[in-house]
Amino acid sequence: MINQPQIVEIKEVIDETPTIKTFVFDWDFEKFGAPNPGEFLMLWNFCDEKPMSISKIDDNQLAISVKNIGEFTSQIHDLKVGDKIGVRGSYGNGFNTDFNNKNLLVIGGGVGMAPVVGLTYKLLEKSNNVDVIVAGVNKDELLFMDSLEKAGANIYPCTDDGSFGFKGFATDCLSNLIKDSTYDYAFVCGPEIMMVGIFNILEDEGILADYSLERYMKCAFGICGQCCVDNTGWRICVEGPVFNSEKIKLIEEFGKYRRDASGVKY
Ligand SMILES: Cc1cc2nc3c(=O)[nH]c(=O)nc-3n(C[C@H](O)[C@H](O)[C@H](O)COP(=O)(O)OP(=O)(O)OC[C@H]3O[C@@H](n4cnc5c(N)ncnc54)[C@H](O)[C@@H]3O)c2cc1C
Repeated sequence: MINQPQIVEIKEVIDETPTIKTFVFDWDFEKFGAPNPGEFLMLWNFCDEKPMSISKIDDNQLAISVKNIGEFTSQIHDLKVGDKIGVRGSYGNGFNTDFNNKNLLVIGGGVGMAPVVGLTYKLLEKSNNVDVIVAGVNKDELLFMDSLEKAGANIYPCTDDGSFGFKGFATDCLSNLIKDSTYDYAFVCGPEIMMVGIFNILEDEGILADYSLERYMKCAFGICGQCCVDNTGWRICVEGPVFNSEKIKLIEEFGKYRRDASGVKY
């Protein structure tokens, strides 16, 4: 882990969806460490810094997949191959990948697919059967389906508008899927409202899971306290961003509220 941004050159830019681009860059695994799936980086555009999950961990290369939703992410989307950017990390705890020959379920909503794509590759390497619910608002916003299918995952696409795959939210798709299947463990990342719905269903079914949370971050290494959650005080950047079912139950603000850059609840 490094706490000072390394300046890296962008090697590849992939237009994933109309709103999401992937940026690939070299990362010396020997020098800086190879991240675990679910860990994240702080990305510096020489002006501001924001957290981004790692969507590719492979052969001394990392990638981030960025959804264009505001000033910072729009500037990142303007970057081209050969441009430079600052990166520090990786940070956080990552997913529990200690599974072999199990029946596993991965659920990613929108850009929430970013941290779970590398996780799925790792789980497949360990002879697990992996079903993946890839959820998006419409067909164009579904992420990483082809590459995951090629790697051996069973893909269950679902769209809010029914333009591809199951019509409905990830929660509806899950309810449908578990009529015929059961799972040893699940992994979930996406909008918090989706994760709460998924949590309720998985709890009813007795399926334990890892959930990846997002909170406003500043330092990302546990000093500033910006991303602490009520009532545990856990820092999402250090004790998280991934919490298992037992821990997520203790986070009272899960699905209810979060805090902005000034610490004000919303
Ligand atoms: C651990 C973690 C992993 C993330 N992974 C990804 C990812 O893989 N891809 C992706 O597109 N986005 C990811 N995000 C969210 C991303 O950091 C924000 O969407 C981005 O910072 C928005 O910046 P903006 O200026 O474009 O938008 P703004 O208009 O500034 O913000 C829009 C919203 O983004 C969130 N946000 C803004 N600044 C921060 C910050 N410093 N820390 C956390 N949230 C912030 C807030 O909810 C805010 O309301 C992640 C966030 C966290 C905490």
